[in-house]
Amino acid sequence: MEFIDLRSDTVTKPTPEMREAMAEAEVGDDVYMDDPTVNKLQEKAAEMLGKEDSLFVPSGTMGNLLALLVHCQRGDEAIVGDCSHIYLNEAGGMAALGGIYPHAIKNQTDGTLALDDILSAIQSENVHHTITRLVCIENTQNVCGGVPLTVEYTRAVGKLARENNLLFHIDGARVFNAATAQNVSVEELVEPADSVMFCLSKGLCSPVGSMLVGSKKFVARARHLRKMLGGGMRQVGVLAAAGLISLEKMSKRLGEDHARAKKLADGLRQVNGLVLDAGTPFTNMIYFDLANDVRLNAFQVTEKMKERGILLDPDNDRRFRLVTHYWIDDAAVGKTVEAFAKVLN
Ligand SMILES: *Cc1c(COP(=O)(O)O)cnc(C)c1O
Repeated sequence: MEFIDLRSDTVTKPTPEMREAMAEAEVGDDVYMDDPTVNKLQEKAAEMLGKEDSLFVPSGTMGNLLALLVHCQRGDEAIVGDCSHIYLNEAGGMAALGGIYPHAIKNQTDGTLALDDILSAIQSENVHHTITRLVCIENTQNVCGGVPLTVEYTRAVGKLARENNLLFHIDGARVFNAATAQNVSVEELVEPADSVMFCLSKGLCSPVGSMLVGSKKFVARARHLRKMLGGGMRQVGVLAAAGLISLEKMSKRLGEDHARAKKLADGLRQVNGLVLDAGTPFTNMIYFDLANDVRLNAFQVTEKMKERGILLDPDNDRRFRLVTHYWIDDAAVGKTVEAFAKVLN
């Protein structure tokens, strides 16, 4: 059976065009910086984000960790959101491997960190304090609903960072979704940041990989640390070839995923027993709870949906996040709504 897989956009398999490009990719040893396809990908990513240089990394987690390691020394502090991926879902790498202290402040429901909260989190110069070096935001903010942060907000954080001698990193795992949803360029959206990580392997459909983008100096240091972490790769042009298609083609079609998420949410709003979050979806993620009177829990619903060919990944025993992506078409949207209606009624 071919499953309809709504667990995440990380489940996206490479497109036939990607597989072809991967088979034909020109390659070389990327540790010698000799892989022409990787070099092309890195140039293209830097150009699209309006930064000097970029680095192909095996995962978004490694990209974020590298940014933290380049920007911060051991004992320094980074301000992060309490709902951020860096804080919650990267195995504490910043602390474990970098000796970097995460100063978590509240993510507002709109995904932002309040500017006043950032300001109050900055440590004053004092022998008792850590040195606040970095502020990180996440765009789109996943846990807050896949919500996109605006150009204006990002500029305001950039200004605050400059005025207070902080560096500024964007976890832009889904920054192309954020740009698409707001009809702005990614370049504009990341302009104030010193560094940005984004994932090729999610909505952009590549099988593997993320990009870390910033100044030449930043990327050179990140390349050194990538080797230290065991992330120096060889003939990795076979993966970069897919990444180029992600940038050139897949980045331009994310609006389709957002439209299907909207259609799916509209359908699910009509299903008894589901309570959708206000405003969902903002991009490609739909968040909802089971109504109090539904006797099944989310894990039981997941089992029953799987019997109907639909894969879900519940957040907890009452809550779901569904994610649309390249392999979810209109028929899949219809079947999903129908299956929920059957399972719950
Ligand atoms: C997926 C994700 C990452 C990390 O990417 P991996 O490739 O899974 O390591 C970082 N930040 C956010 C917001 C993500 O969704």
